[in-house]
Amino acid sequence: MLNLVLFGPPGAGKGTQAIRLAEKFNLVHISTGDILRQEIASKTELGRVAGELIDKGELVPDDVVISMIESRLKKPRCTVGFIFDGFPRTVAQALAFDKLLMKHHSKVSVMLCLVVDKGELVERLHKRGLTSGRGDDLETTTIEHRIDIYNEKTSPLIKYYESQGKYFPIPGMGTIEEITESLIHTIEKFNTKPIAVTSK
Ligand code: ADP
Repeated sequence: MLNLVLFGPPGAGKGTQAIRLAEKFNLVHISTGDILRQEIASKTELGRVAGELIDKGELVPDDVVISMIESRLKKPRCTVGFIFDGFPRTVAQALAFDKLLMKHHSKVSVMLCLVVDKGELVERLHKRGLTSGRGDDLETTTIEHRIDIYNEKTSPLIKYYESQGKYFPIPGMGTIEEITESLIHTIEKFNTKPIAVTSK
């Protein structure tokens, strides 16, 4: 099972690249941000609580996102693997994730980190805010706050995966196609085994 973690700050392009990689390698794409936005759109209680936090640029509590991932991994499906986009985002989430994968006799294969300058991130998020309708992309203070939270709570995961030899930084500046190519190159170098469809 190929389990890719696509990592990077808000606005790094994880969502865009995850969709392209999922298609290329036949992976199931799991985005915690997308799942939370679906909950908000469906006006569930979880969506209401999450929506308030997301609009302020805060993270949603670890136990909430962990159980979202748990329920998705439980679903029986036929796949060669998964691409996780926006998860894990804290050390507690990464620890819980490892335990969860172990229960499924699996593990994180590789963590690909998109590296983008802060100035470029702020610019991209502002631009996205104009068309996405995402409240968390509109205000400069919220955008800055999300980047601060990334630096404080999420970036420690780089050390976590680096110590396991799983951290691969990838330049996230350039065209979408160039970045996809770099990601594919790294995955193919790493994933030397032929990919066979297996059912869980
Ligand atoms: P971005 O990476 O551009 O911030 P996402 O769609 O990944 O966008 O996430 C949007 C928001 O959803 C985050 O700012 C956060 O509030 C919440 N969220 C998404 N994933 C997680 C997670 N793993 N843990 C906590 N909160 C999360």
